[in-house]
Amino acid sequence: MTARTVDQLDTDVVICGSGVAGLATACALGRLGLDVVLVEKRRQQPHIAKGEVLQPGSLRILQGWEVLHRLESRQAVRLNRLVAREADGDELATMDFGTLGGNRSWMLSHDYSTILECTGEALGETVRLRRGVLANELIRDAGGRVAGVRVSEGGREYEIRARLVVAADGMSSRLRRMAGMSADPVAYGHRLLSFELADVPVAPDEVSAYVTRRGLVMIYPLPHERTRVYVQVAPDELRRADAARLEHWCAELVADVPALAPFAHLFKEALDRRQLLQVWRYRALSLVRPGIALVGEAAHGVHPLTAQGMNTAIGDAHTLAVHLAGTAPGATAAVDEALRGYENERLSRIRDIHVMSHNAARMMTSTSRVGRMLGRRLLSGTGRSARLRYLTTFNMSGLGMRPLTGFDRLVQLGVLPDPKARSFVPSH
Ligand SMILES: Cc1cc2nc3c(=O)[nH]c(=O)nc-3n(C[C@H](O)[C@H](O)[C@H](O)COP(=O)(O)OP(=O)(O)OC[C@H]3O[C@@H](n4cnc5c(N)ncnc54)[C@H](O)[C@@H]3O)c2cc1C
Repeated sequence: MTARTVDQLDTDVVICGSGVAGLATACALGRLGLDVVLVEKRRQQPHIAKGEVLQPGSLRILQGWEVLHRLESRQAVRLNRLVAREADGDELATMDFGTLGGNRSWMLSHDYSTILECTGEALGETVRLRRGVLANELIRDAGGRVAGVRVSEGGREYEIRARLVVAADGMSSRLRRMAGMSADPVAYGHRLLSFELADVPVAPDEVSAYVTRRGLVMIYPLPHERTRVYVQVAPDELRRADAARLEHWCAELVADVPALAPFAHLFKEALDRRQLLQVWRYRALSLVRPGIALVGEAAHGVHPLTAQGMNTAIGDAHTLAVHLAGTAPGATAAVDEALRGYENERLSRIRDIHVMSHNAARMMTSTSRVGRMLGRRLLSGTGRSARLRYLTTFNMSGLGMRPLTGFDRLVQLGVLPDPKARSFVPSH
């Protein structure tokens, strides 16, 4: 057996995982003056297409953390609306973010890696980021309270003792499992093919979601004249496809969604660099135990269609900081009280986001005849009512949540008329 040195670090908070959830939490808690150690198992952040669209609620929070101006100065793109369209381009429902009123009533797109970079630049002086450090297990005190983590770094093991451990270690969170909390991910029956295309003529400020017989096709602009395209595929659709099969697949796709025709040739080239992503939904039924809190995908996962995962992670970080503000870092009982406040506030919001995202996914990704018919009906019912369009936009925005009622569902289905379908004026 190789000899190992065990030494120890001591801090107020140790955060495990430096994706958006971990970095956002480090930023928020650093601003409270807390001593934070942020550990990340990877030495470098891989370039993956995920977490690109920020909602207005997150923009407010990021402004407070001095992250937003960094994104804006790197040419983040303003997206004013999300439009659900028929495959041929006809509009089903438009969520116009301008109707939200107030400052920054738009979404913003940028690469996940740039969002992480900008958040990383805003970490205060009390935050130390250590890469290449794997959190292995939880340390507990004599009373069973979580009191830190045991980590390994380059073959060396040591302990990081802390009054609070934050699990930001993503979907298959090891710390969540060790703390005795569970979240059972359910995979959607489809995958998303992701393309990044350059110099493509698309609406400059729109997220377009095409509801097609093959499911969802989503398009939005990224900075520097790039465009993100997601295409829903069946799990085995392109497995072992040769060049001729790929060519045929592209031709069919463009025939289904004519908006793709002007850049069909780019698809063929980009197919070699395609990323195939599996999508999940789940939520943990509890977010805290004494001494530990879950944030981000350690706690919840939703279909990417409504751009909620990263935004919910930012909301988690903000809410945790609000509850910890004013808590003496050494006072573990007060920290645990703050954690209960975090859980009480956040669990219901996460549940509502989960329901909203899953309903939207069902409306837009169904490929069965009945599912597609119902999805279109619900979308066009939403599109016909100014009140429902506003409500849907508001719920996506992260500025608050007013879940749809049974009456709203009947209006969406066209069973009941909406008295405010045309006359609705939002009160800001
Ligand atoms: C295709 C796609 C598109 C999406 N688009 C959007 C969007 O537009 N808007 C939106 O809001 N959301 C979007 N999402 C969701 C969003 O990307 C995720 O919710 C978000 O990235 C989750 O961040 P996280 O920090 O919780 O997890 P992760 O990004 O998975 O980060 C977890 C980190 O923890 C580290 N780690 C894991 N285990 C350990 C350990 N034991 N010790 C140390 N480190 C560890 C990992 O290396 C990783 O860096 C999208 C998702 C997908 C798949």
